[in-house]
Amino acid sequence: MSPKILRKTNFGNPILREVSRTLTSDEIISADIQTLIGDMRHTTAKKQYGVGLAAPQVGVAVALSVIAIKPTPSRPDSMEFDQVIINPEVIEGIGSRIGMWEGCISFGSGEDTPYAKALRYKKVRVRYLDERAVLHEEVLEGLPAHVFQHEVDHLNGILFVDRVRDSKTYITIGEYKKRYAKKPKK
Ligand SMILES: [Zn+2]
Repeated sequence: MSPKILRKTNFGNPILREVSRTLTSDEIISADIQTLIGDMRHTTAKKQYGVGLAAPQVGVAVALSVIAIKPTPSRPDSMEFDQVIINPEVIEGIGSRIGMWEGCISFGSGEDTPYAKALRYKKVRVRYLDERAVLHEEVLEGLPAHVFQHEVDHLNGILFVDRVRDSKTYITIGEYKKRYAKKPKK
């Protein structure tokens, strides 16, 4: 069966505030979860849903996210992190948290989507299972560290707006692009 595009849930849907259920190794390798992973990867790529998608964002309250970070013209130096993360945890935040620009597709997907500075660690020690139920423990930094924290929050019912300390930083993604986004290097 070919992968299908999943419908996204939006801010206000109670599933986005639930603590997602963790998965056992048997469940991870089951056909149901493997299909969900395939559909989520397909949905992220086709709908251009940015760099991360958590299962509750497509209506399934299990502790699983797909992260798809590849170097692009606007972030040519980014570390690659193209990974399914299951039962993920941030074990340790390294250094102190700083405000980082962030948005979320559960709040919209056009130029008018809200964007703000959320408090995040630049570097984190993390633990997760991959789609074969293999355990990983590693230190992430840069964009992968940032997105990992956003995804773990989703699986605990926490949204980026909960991490915004200064509400005056809210702008639309259109204004963000105009004012703050790095121009691609020629
Ligand atoms: Zn999000």
